[in-house]
Amino acid sequence: MGNRKTQSKGERQLRWEAEVVEYVNTIYRMTKVHGNARANTAPANLRSDIPIIGPVFEPPGYLHLQKRNNSPSIEPGSTYLLAITIVHPFFYPGLGSCPGCGSNNTNWDGWTPTGPREVHGVCREERALGYQLRCKDCKGVNGKDYCFATTSAEFWKNHEHWELPRKFPLADIFSPLTHQKFQGGIPYFFSRSAASRELFNLIIELRPALTSAGISEHICRMFQQNLNTCTILI
Ligand SMILES: [Zn+2]
Repeated sequence: MGNRKTQSKGERQLRWEAEVVEYVNTIYRMTKVHGNARANTAPANLRSDIPIIGPVFEPPGYLHLQKRNNSPSIEPGSTYLLAITIVHPFFYPGLGSCPGCGSNNTNWDGWTPTGPREVHGVCREERALGYQLRCKDCKGVNGKDYCFATTSAEFWKNHEHWELPRKFPLADIFSPLTHQKFQGGIPYFFSRSAASRELFNLIIELRPALTSAGISEHICRMFQQNLNTCTILI
């Protein structure tokens, strides 16, 4: 992890992401069907006292601190924590086909070892962390990739951008924290960068009529507008 110069190395961000990973590991372990189980074994139910949150995780805000402690210790650094989208089979169980050959003779093999990717958002940058899928049919075939990260461009190369929210309905989620609807929670992954669905849809909407500088100006104005709204509410 950390082989990209632009990758965040902030300790707080990494600690926050490690906590998210620990949570997803736990709920996945409690509900997945064991590899040696008989065919058609039903997955275990998740206990009712364990909340299901994600796949977009937003860092806890001031409200959380305030509700859990009457005199919270406010640390400005926590304001800079970025939201992270987890592209994981717990949230998207339909992701198990090999992106190379379409086979279902695959198995999930842990988190992406290169860590989270940066995702460009409309108002703020975001992050995304993927899981690895290994294809048993492609393994050993000369020159073929057989291990794919769900945050890589290769994984999504055969999917059209417009079909994602339909194919993976969880991609349309509503955040109870910000009352914001994340349209198509799975970001759009390119080989060198990634964009949130929100940003991607905005670009598609504006692109035929505007230059890239015009889009940039629109996004700046939208950001300013959001900032003004927040200031009024405070
Ligand atoms: Zn394959």
